[in-house]
This record gives sequence, C-alpha cells and structure tokens, in this order.
Amino acid sequence: MADKNTNIRVRFAPSPTGALHIGGGHTALFNWLWARHTGGKFILRIEDTDLVRSTKEYEQTIMDGMTWLGLDWDEGPDKGGDYGPYRQSERLDLYRKYAQQLTDEGRAYRDGEAVLFKVEPGQDISFDDMVYGRVEVMSDALKERDSDKLKDIVIIKSDGMPTYNYAVVIDDHLMAISHVIRGEDHISNTPKQILLYRALGWDVPTFAHLPMILGKDKKKLSKRHGATSVYEYRDMGYMPDSVFNFLALLGWSAGDDEIFTREKAARLFELSRVTRKPAVLDPDKMNFINQEHLKRLDPMTRLAMIRPFWEEMGLPVDKHDDTWLAEALTLMAGRGRTAKEMAEFSDYFVSFDPVKARWDGSDIAEDRKPGLRDFFAALFAVTDWTPEALEAQARKWTEERGVRMKDYAMPLRFVLTGMKVSPGIFEVAVHLGRDEVKRRLEHYGLI
Ligand code: GLU
Repeated sequence: MADKNTNIRVRFAPSPTGALHIGGGHTALFNWLWARHTGGKFILRIEDTDLVRSTKEYEQTIMDGMTWLGLDWDEGPDKGGDYGPYRQSERLDLYRKYAQQLTDEGRAYRDGEAVLFKVEPGQDISFDDMVYGRVEVMSDALKERDSDKLKDIVIIKSDGMPTYNYAVVIDDHLMAISHVIRGEDHISNTPKQILLYRALGWDVPTFAHLPMILGKDKKKLSKRHGATSVYEYRDMGYMPDSVFNFLALLGWSAGDDEIFTREKAARLFELSRVTRKPAVLDPDKMNFINQEHLKRLDPMTRLAMIRPFWEEMGLPVDKHDDTWLAEALTLMAGRGRTAKEMAEFSDYFVSFDPVKARWDGSDIAEDRKPGLRDFFAALFAVTDWTPEALEAQARKWTEERGVRMKDYAMPLRFVLTGMKVSPGIFEVAVHLGRDEVKRRLEHYGLI
C-alpha cells in the first residue's frame, strides 16, 4: 500500500435524480478504491442543481446503495466535513460569487439573467488522463452547432442555477479534489472545465476517466440488459461483496484471482491499471462471482443471507435450530448462484410443504411400489443412520437383486426434495433425520 497520502481527495458526485445505477456504483467504487488505496479521503457531493428532477428520496437511495456496497465516505451531506456544504443547492452563493468575479474581470458576461463565460480561440486545452492518456483539444473546437462561431459556456442559467460544467469546477477546487475519477462520458466536458479553472487561476486536478460499461451485446447499458440498479442486484439475492467484486472487475483486474474482498481490492488497486476498453457487463460472470462468494462464507453468515429469502417464501424458518439450518446450507455445497436460488434449491430442508406442492408422486407406477417399499424398509433396517451406512446398504440391496441403484435413489430424492437434483440423497436423508424421512415416505405411501 502506498504511504498514507492525506492530500489525495476524490469525490463521487451523483445527481439525485434516480436510484444508484450500475454506472454510478462503478464510479463510486473506483473513487473509493483510490481513496482507500492511497489513504486519502472519499467525498460524497450531491449535484442537485436540477431542482425539478432531484429529490431527497433519491439522495437517500443513492447513499443506501453505496452503504450496501460497503463504500463508506469520509465527508458528505450527512456527515459534514471541513469543505461543506456538500449539496450544490446549498452552495449557490459560492457560484454567484465566482460568476461575479469572472464578470468583473471581463471573462464572463451577462445575457439577460444568464451568465456566460467567454471562450477565446487559440487556447490549448489538452490534458493528460490517467486512463485515456493525452487528450488533445484546442478551444477552437468549442463551436456552436453547425457553425464556425465559438460557443461561450453558460455558467449561470437564467433561473439562477449554475450549470454542471461550472459548478463542478468551483466545487472540485474548493473541496480540494486531487483526482477527478468519473465516467468517460465526461471526457468531452473536461476541456471546458479546464478553461474555467484557468480563468479562475486555479490548479487543474488530475483526471481519470473510467471505461464505458456495455451490455453483453456490446450496446450501451440499458433496461433491456436486465438489472441496471444496484438495488435490483440486492433484491435478486446477490451479495454486496460479490456485486462489489463484480463492479471492480469492470475495467480493472486484481491479477490472477478474480474473487477478492474489498480490502484486497483496495490494497491492489492502481488507477494507472484501469483499462480504456469498454467493459462488458456479463450476468453469467456476476452469477459465477456470487456463487464463489457464497461458497466462501462461513455457515452462519451464509444462513443470515438465505434466511430472509426463506421467510419471504413463507417457510417456517424459526421452527429449526440455526446450526442445523446452517449445516443444511453447507450440504448444498455451492448449489445456487444467488441467495435466492440457494433458498429455493434448499426449501425442502425447512419444510415438507414445498415438496408436496412440487411433486404429487403420481409418476410412480403402482407396480413399482412394492419394490420401492422393500428398498426403503431395508434402509430403515440400518441402525447406523449415516450417509455411508445408508449408501452401503442401498448398494448391497440393489446389487443382490441385479437392479440399478439409480432407479431407487431417484424416487427417494423426489420424496425428500421434490426435485431432480439435490446434494447426495443419503446426506439429505441423514440431515433430515429418520423420523422426517419416514414421514415423507409415508405421505407417498412408500413405507
Ligand atoms: N453529477 C455529474 C454526473 O452525475 C457528475 C460528473 C462528475 O463527476 O464530474 O454525471
């Protein structure tokens, strides 16, 4: 880890006009990684100058989404700090003050209620981006649409509110931001912002733009691609640890190991290793990462993840002992890519009801039942109720009769789980216990 660098200050500056979407979460996360890697500060600034679309509810949702992802900030509207206020709507006097200064100096002018910054030709406004490298731009490129005329930059709109390009400069300077880390869609705004920094006589921060995030079809991410807000992932049963891991891999890698913790990512993160190649959001990858994190959880934490989903399914979770439930999930050995899936795949441990609802037993032909009853009776003759003993008995019984084990184990699997796939069925039987297995067999008339 780099030496603690208290001069490094980065910010996430969302507009509270919607939930925390994947792109916003990604930007917040990379800022957090850089701050935590360097020992700097991570600031949350709310860009709520669009008074119509901004709401306090969205502001809260964004903060909740960040908290869920584990992205804690050091300064922000809720936390305070030495550089506040942290909501743009509370900083209007500052924007007016510097607009007045620019106007007094002849760098800006009034047009009705609005204030515009005058763009002079022949200025080199190129910059070195930590991700994209050198971006060459001359002010002559800042033209009116379909014209050769230079386009001045509106800094205060006629409603008295500052524009994004202007407020962002005032705030990033006054908040002593050292690195501006944001989506690549802002590369085109950067030269305009550089003009404003210079006119105000301020140092320009270091810029690092993050690659665009695309859907699997290589098109810009949209609703069509499935979950686009961080909360949708939460509601589908993805773990915050894995959504964090997944987002961190969009445009960066931690070396060989794709599965990592926040701490490890923060330790290894380097802005200079972020790629400019658009990152593709692959739901299969998300599932893989989540599954790996689920597998690595300690049993009680895993139970805490799964419990709400069982409860939502109406299952009597409280009837069981926590350790017993946690062991049942350990038996699942990585089955289920999300907490929701794992809860669904293991519902039969919690209750027999979903089994009955899934499978009515009618696909077992009457003439097979006597043979099955003999088989199950043989299993119940085993005194040592362990997976090994049950399996040995089943093997012996089927071999002696020259029948296939599968033809007997499969019905048992349906009786106990109502499903075609499950962990080893003798392990399931042992975990459910003799009495419960008997009860389920009796229900289907197989004992
Ligand atoms: N409010 C802007 C956005 O959400 C911030 C961009 C920036 O980081 O400069 O896109």
